[in-house]
Amino acid sequence: MIREMATRSERKPDLAKRDLKIIGGAVLFSLLIACGGLAADAPDKFTLTCFEIPDIQRGAGLALVLQTPGGKTYLYDTGNGYPSKTNASGWAGDHNTARDIIVPFLKEHGVKELDGVFISHAHYDHFGGLVWLVDHFPIKKLYDSGYVFAGESSVDYTGELGHYTKLREQFKQRPGAYQEAHTGDKLAIDERLVVEVIAPPKEYFTEPHPEKRPKTDPPAHYLVNANSLGLRIQHGSVVFYLPGDIQGEDINQSLLPSIDNAKLKCNILIAPGHGIHFTKEFAEATRPEVSIASVFPRYAKGLKSTPMLRAVGAKVYITGLNGRVQVVSDGSHYTVEAERPDGAEKK
Ligand SMILES: [Zn+2]
Repeated sequence: MIREMATRSERKPDLAKRDLKIIGGAVLFSLLIACGGLAADAPDKFTLTCFEIPDIQRGAGLALVLQTPGGKTYLYDTGNGYPSKTNASGWAGDHNTARDIIVPFLKEHGVKELDGVFISHAHYDHFGGLVWLVDHFPIKKLYDSGYVFAGESSVDYTGELGHYTKLREQFKQRPGAYQEAHTGDKLAIDERLVVEVIAPPKEYFTEPHPEKRPKTDPPAHYLVNANSLGLRIQHGSVVFYLPGDIQGEDINQSLLPSIDNAKLKCNILIAPGHGIHFTKEFAEATRPEVSIASVFPRYAKGLKSTPMLRAVGAKVYITGLNGRVQVVSDGSHYTVEAERPDGAEKK
């Protein structure tokens, strides 16, 4: 197991906390001032776990568990789950990430219900787990960008997009169980986190030049990706950025001009579009210290994002090589632990 301590700050929160416990009120007050409010910023941990999703020859997949300092549990995307075409109750490749990976993890951690699920966008490698979860695990609330693709598309995409719309409707029918979120919205998921929506805007991203896109990448694919729910999560001074699957063209022509780029600067980046979709401009804007790409081993070598991220000084993790990757923040420092730190493919 690798354990890396990022040295972003000279402050030692663990020491400060221990000291605070054993001293009196007056001293405590002056120490709080000396620490710049540190003790109040970082009482407990924020943990992000990015799972390794097996290659079932469909999609790519992303599933993150977010465990907040206040003890709440959220998912950002739910991994792969392609309903089987031959068996009504089965899954392509006999895999559903929620059934096979997420819920066993939650049970191991004593989690009995989810405070919320964020779905970045309506593709089965991101919401397939939710299809199974809604019938098997309590979920208080669903968050997404509210995007509905209204253009023409093939049967493959209409089935997938329609399926997600039905799931969203299920949540909408329960009072308070659904929230549509757009750029600038603040989501009050835990009082010790500042969660801000980075994208998409209320009017959504569009593409003025669809004729420039390759035929293999229809609007039902790239526009749904482009309107992924992007989140910036700040815990004390540690910033995470979860951009969903927005693709390179849309990053440069829509996302970067739509927002104060200072908001994109982060310590930990979940690579957009599994690291397959990426741009130099995005690397420059985000400048992460750590990036995590959720992608199968066959995409991992030669992944487009890797050299661009390394060029801005990021340490790159890829689930297909490094396995499960977990980041733990105390609000001032963070550690990163990978299942296979040497990056060996799973045997
Ligand atoms: Zn994806």
